[in-house]
Amino acid sequence: MNDVQSKVVVVTGAASGIGREIARAFADRGARLAICDIDGRGLDELQAEVSSAGRRCYQEIVDVAQAGQVEEFCANVYREMGRVDVLVNNAGIACGGRFETVSLDDWQWILGVNLWGVVHGCHFFYPRMIGQGGGGHIINIASAAGLGPFPFMSAYCVTKSAVLAISRTLRAEAALNGIGVSAICPGFVNTNIIGTAKVTCGTRRSSAEELIGTVNRLYGLVGWPPERVARAVVKAVEKDLAVVKVGFETYLVDAIDRLAPRLVDRANRRAFRFGNRWL
Ligand code: NAD
Repeated sequence: MNDVQSKVVVVTGAASGIGREIARAFADRGARLAICDIDGRGLDELQAEVSSAGRRCYQEIVDVAQAGQVEEFCANVYREMGRVDVLVNNAGIACGGRFETVSLDDWQWILGVNLWGVVHGCHFFYPRMIGQGGGGHIINIASAAGLGPFPFMSAYCVTKSAVLAISRTLRAEAALNGIGVSAICPGFVNTNIIGTAKVTCGTRRSSAEELIGTVNRLYGLVGWPPERVARAVVKAVEKDLAVVKVGFETYLVDAIDRLAPRLVDRANRRAFRFGNRWL
């Protein structure tokens, strides 16, 4: 898709961070938006901003973990906008902690949003995108954490590798219908994700709350601005890219995991011990 002018772009989790910047980037290029999130106030702010710039923006409060809500959102978007050219499955959350401290409720929560949210988006929108004809594009926001093992983040890593698997598989099938599929793998991005994360335990040095504070400060210092991910998303749509890595740390994780898996194994065990003692 060379030009997104007047195309209809759906963004989930658009009230904050990466999703908000993706929505802004497409609106700046003349696209019409349909946005959803569980945060109604953030949606209102974005809608007001986009509408004041003369762009059409439909919004709805939707929990992407709930199939019925995504199904209804899809029906409403088609009723309001007539078609969907780009679907961005972005909504996501983070949950960290040693494996034995992550409850089954936590697993269900993160799988519900990060994995089922993407499944629901593809399940309800993709058949209608095929049916409308004229091609289109699906973007799924994965993560560097989907490309390699990150201790303390088992549940998050599981969801993001699954998103990568869905994206690569669907891409092969969707090409028949002229629909591109891309997985975007950002590294550290400076957003609210750590502030709203659930951390199920601390380290030897810090409580869970202190750990969130430390990681949040770290993201503030070294995290990429979310606009950088938004630019990568627009490029993925324009050039029909399969897997897009954002940030040198993501290239590093991917390269080392492929070229030296034993090194990753050793380094990860050391990193975990070090983090547990010093963070
Ligand atoms: P963020 O917290 O700033 O934004 C996430 C948005 O998703 C929020 O507006 C939140 O309200 C919304 N959301 C949460 N649960 C939802 C639900 N059940 N239904 C609908 N909306 C929901 O975080 P972000 O960093 O912008 O995260 C966006 C995506 O990028 C996520 O999928 C995340 O996993 C991924 N990602 C983030 C980073 C990072 O370092 N920030 C790195 C790699 C990947």
